[in-house]
Amino acid sequence: MMRPDNQVSRREFIASTSVLLAASQLGVAQTAGNDADKLALDGGEKAVTRPAPKPKRWGEPELQQLGAAVQQNSLYYWGNAQTKLLMDRFRAVYGHKFVQPCSSGTASLHIAVAAAGIAPGDEVITSAITDIGTVIGTLFQQAVPVFADLEPQTGCLDPADVERKITPKTRAIIAVHLAGNPCRLAELKEIADKHKLILIEDCAQAWGALYRGKPISSVGDIGCFSLQDTKHISCGDGGVVTSSDEKLGPLLTKFGDKGSNRFNPKDSATRLAPNYRMSELQAAFVAAQLTRLEGIASQRAKLGNLFTEELAGIPGILTHQVRPDDRCVYWFYMLRLVPAKLRCDRATFVKAIAAEGATFTAGYIALPLYGLPMFQNHGFFAGRWPTKECGLTKMDYTKVKCPETEAILQTCMRFQVNEAMDEDYIRAVARAVRTVAKHYAA
Ligand SMILES: *Cc1c(COP(=O)(O)O)cnc(C)c1O
Repeated sequence: MMRPDNQVSRREFIASTSVLLAASQLGVAQTAGNDADKLALDGGEKAVTRPAPKPKRWGEPELQQLGAAVQQNSLYYWGNAQTKLLMDRFRAVYGHKFVQPCSSGTASLHIAVAAAGIAPGDEVITSAITDIGTVIGTLFQQAVPVFADLEPQTGCLDPADVERKITPKTRAIIAVHLAGNPCRLAELKEIADKHKLILIEDCAQAWGALYRGKPISSVGDIGCFSLQDTKHISCGDGGVVTSSDEKLGPLLTKFGDKGSNRFNPKDSATRLAPNYRMSELQAAFVAAQLTRLEGIASQRAKLGNLFTEELAGIPGILTHQVRPDDRCVYWFYMLRLVPAKLRCDRATFVKAIAAEGATFTAGYIALPLYGLPMFQNHGFFAGRWPTKECGLTKMDYTKVKCPETEAILQTCMRFQVNEAMDEDYIRAVARAVRTVAKHYAA
């Protein structure tokens, strides 16, 4: 079935591919002379001759800010200088009135669904290719994650399937900007508004990503960020949840801070809420990290986009698709193999790339979230699921199937782009892909 939204994306994609085809053919011609067709696996020259550059992630700014925190008498977050600085610097980029620092990305997402008023048995539509933290809060609120299928070359929610999954119980959508690539937010927002749903953006992997030129989290009702160690901006562990909505905003503090509504003290202790606070030491570190955000984001975007250009036209390889108006920050770069066009399996491809001197990882998470044992057994709470036992849902995760989601996990490879890499390095890795794909072309 052809859908208008997909037609647009396919046309855009084909347009960009054909423009870049000439460039990639040039690249082939340049290397054709020196035994470029022979795999390093078979004793040929390596395409990548130096190790992957690694960034030095922290230094003077972080030390200085931690030093400032140590001069304080209190490391409690609310009202103190480091948290204020974090909030100011976050607002300077994201513009939201309400900014609640918290203990993790998972916490930020739990706070978001609690603030959104998600009740037992309510349904929350999201992706099955994401960190489990996307749905932990939903499950703890006794609500029901419903998995919609994904777009093939972004791994982000397919708005048409989101709409198909809406029922009278649906209350929210959690849009995961997978690998730092913005979802189709305009379409998702339109669906959310039409059905009166809260749109939550999971921006954990997407620090610095732009949707149609604007920072992600500006379309949804609530934005959730992770500061876990592997994310672009980090303090080891932490998170931020944010909103500009006058009703939802104050609730982010309430649900992140044991139920106390600091904006309206009369509204305290009316609901159950955990303590998801961050300390001043983390806030100091994050405030320093935020001064690096634009540099990190723009460099990763540039390198990832270059990789796409260099990979254009290689048979058997699907590149990471980014819509022209967006900035993807490539938490990872996702390639997909087209099995019918290659004579090797994914493990062999990854091995051949390793011999060429680059590192690809086969797959991402081992299973779509609904395939995990706790979903398959409906055994979230000591082997039980009160929501189902009380008749609040008929959900049966053993029957859930998202075909594109499963195909992505079976055919994808990840390449770790980072801000310390340079264009030559990216070109060399692309050369490795070209050599290997050509060798195994069906
Ligand atoms: C990392 C991540 C989370 C969870 O963040 P933590 O800080 O590890 O709790 C949630 N969603 C996505 C998409 C993530 O990548």
